[in-house]
This record gives sequence, structure tokens and C-alpha cells, in this order.
Amino acid sequence: MLALSRERDWDFDAGLLPLDFANTAEWHASPKPSERLNAYPDLMAWSVEAGLMTEAEARSVLEDAEDRSEEAAAVLDRAINLREAIYRVLSAVAAGKKPVQEDLDDLNAALAEALSRARIEPAPKGFSWAWSGADQSLDRMLWPILRETAELLTSDDLDRIGECADDRGCGYLFYDISRNHSRRWCSMARRIRPSKSTGRAIPWIIYGS
Ligand SMILES: [Zn+2]
Repeated sequence: MLALSRERDWDFDAGLLPLDFANTAEWHASPKPSERLNAYPDLMAWSVEAGLMTEAEARSVLEDAEDRSEEAAAVLDRAINLREAIYRVLSAVAAGKKPVQEDLDDLNAALAEALSRARIEPAPKGFSWAWSGADQSLDRMLWPILRETAELLTSDDLDRIGECADDRGCGYLFYDISRNHSRRWCSMARRIRPSKSTGRAIPWIIYGS
């Protein structure tokens, strides 16, 4: 059976879900980005680490994905296409440029579909967001990402979105919480870590047991 990818070295330092999602391709601004979502179980492993679902929920989704492998592959494609649109829009924002309309159109189409699933339900304190039909949907992780992307883009803090200034094409997006918005790099550790320029860590993906 399909198992959760054992990839664990995900980066959640960007500060916000849409930015962390955009950063699942490394060297994103270079001619050869390094893809980290190479199979549907990678997307599920990332979703668990991102707090979008529990490991038990992810395992249940993966069981469904086994019987719906073509659909799972299509979801991965769609997730990557959406991530690229999110990256391009946020990268343009970080550079003070206008995003490409086609990317906004793609995001809006996906957002409308995602929000048609959105609901609120009682929580121990007040209410929380929930999603109808999440149990049966292989693309459920995209819905909160899209909602948060829309919230970020409509916030007053767009000038806090930054992209690493490494001119080799690092492309790492971050949310700048420094007082004078002076952050320029993904991190000092990343700047000097040579392994990043040689490629991604190899995910440990198990198919079959
Ligand atoms: Zn960088």
C-alpha cells in the first residue's frame, strides 16, 4: 500500500503557509529549480508537517489514493501548478511588481472551488474552519492553502513578503517580521550551506509494503 513519504526535512521557516508551500521547490528563481514534491505521498507528508491534517488522516487519504492513482497523480500536478502560480504572484509582490493576470485568474478559479467547500463549525471555544467533503477529497490540502494565500494577498502587510536576494536564484520566499523590513536573505545558514546548491535531499518514499 502507499505509505507516507518519509521525507522529513521540510522547511517551515518562511512564517506563513502560502510561503512555506511556495518554498517546496528550492532554487525557485533559478533556471533549474529543485522539486521536493515528487510524488503524491510527498505532498501528504508535507501536509502533515504543515499541520493541515493528522498523520492518521493522511494515511487514510493515502489508502484512497491507492485506488485512485490517476486522480492522485492529477492532484499532484494541480498542486504543483498552483504552487507555481502562488510563487510567481508572491515573487512579483516581493519585487514590487504587478503579478501576471493569468496567474491571478488561475488562483481565483481554484479559490472559488476551494471556498465552495468552506464551512464553520462549533469548536471548544467559538468556531473553527472546516471543509465539506474533505474525507473523500485527495486535494483537500489545497483548500486552506488557497484561503490563506487570498488572506495574505488582501492583507495590509504585502510589504513584508520578501524573496531571498541570493542572485544565484535561491527564490526562497519569507515573511519579514523585522521592524524596519530589512531582511534580505532566506537565512545566514542557507547562504553558506553548500549542499543546497548541489540539489535536494533525496526523499525516502516507500511504495508497497
Ligand atoms: Zn536564499
